[in-house]
Amino acid sequence: MLNIQSKLPGVSTTIFSVMSKLAAEHNAINLSQGFPDYSCDPKLTELVNKAMADGFNQYAPMPGNVFLKETIAEKVENLYQVKYNPDTEITITAGGTQAIFTALAAIINPGDEVIIFEPAYDSYAPTIRLLGGLVKTYELAPPSYGIDWDMVKKLFTSSTRMIILNSPQNPTGSILTENDMKSLIKLINGTDILILSDEVYEHLIYDGEQHRSVMLFPELRERSFVIASFGKLLHATGWKLGYCLAPELLTREFRKVHQFNVFSVNSPMQQAIANYIKEPGNYTGITSFFEKKRNYFRSLLAESRFELLPCSGSYFQCAGYRKISDEKDTDFSIRLIKEFGVATIPVSAFYQKATDHKIIRFCFAKEDSTLALAAEKLRNV
Ligand code: PMP
Ligand code: GLN
Repeated sequence: MLNIQSKLPGVSTTIFSVMSKLAAEHNAINLSQGFPDYSCDPKLTELVNKAMADGFNQYAPMPGNVFLKETIAEKVENLYQVKYNPDTEITITAGGTQAIFTALAAIINPGDEVIIFEPAYDSYAPTIRLLGGLVKTYELAPPSYGIDWDMVKKLFTSSTRMIILNSPQNPTGSILTENDMKSLIKLINGTDILILSDEVYEHLIYDGEQHRSVMLFPELRERSFVIASFGKLLHATGWKLGYCLAPELLTREFRKVHQFNVFSVNSPMQQAIANYIKEPGNYTGITSFFEKKRNYFRSLLAESRFELLPCSGSYFQCAGYRKISDEKDTDFSIRLIKEFGVATIPVSAFYQKATDHKIIRFCFAKEDSTLALAAEKLRNV
């Protein structure tokens, strides 16, 4: 027997794989892992075919396809009125997850502390720990999942190196407000604390709310890695393409790691995406598209015994089930699959302490017919 010292003892297979597998085994409707069940725009796949025919089949430049970086710079400038230099401040990555990993690996030394807000996307904490960093957790509570910044300040020590933000947030659908951003600016003023701002759901924000990107605040932008994912923007989560925006000093460190953990990412798709997003009309409808889905799904569940939490963004709707059961959320979601044919994610999976508020997460990035079928089953619960 080989003796291996696990670098992540206690970590098991991610909840997304577990629930999607169970959904498949039980032939359940899969509202668990966040991915669309409809196709991306055929124009986009045609552009990939064209890029391959045009010879984009060898390594892309290490930091990314030049045309794509320039197109991203234009998009970002149009949306947030800020300029990122494509040569020195934009790096194309294998999705948001690799960008998060790389930014953390570039910055976190053993003993450094990183503040995260839980429930949180499940890659943050294990990645920090893998690097020898310490996770300092601020637990958010339903229904608003709001942040008391005075309490955040109490987590600060001389070892605090980074804060991870995620707005719109997975899994809660909550968003950071102008006041949140101002409080954060005050808090970090005069410190060397960096920010990793996971903005993969930047376009999925509803009810006329504006996404308060860190890019809009110079005091934050100058110390932030901003993470984006084309998976969400293009309804193509399987393409695993995204990018990281960061000032030159931070991008230099980011690329030192990026060049050795992936070097460069899928070439024909980068070329195709650049051609596609060059036309803003190809993605500007995404907000209302998902807002309609959110509204539709909420209306379908209005007469169920689930209690819907607010959802201001992302493609997730959380719901409490206390009126139905007092089971643990992990047990409840397994029973939902087996007995009712609908897969969800227990929100305790997003807390390191498995905090159980009896809430589950539904992904509504699905065909209306899928949502209708799932809701019919859920109304019987
Ligand atoms: N951050 C959050 C909050 C996410 O929900 C996800 C997954 N969709 C990612 C990052 C990773 O995105 P990608 O699939 O591009 O790696
Ligand atoms: N972000 C997606 C979710 O939260 C899934 C990501 C993954 O499978 N790693 O469901």
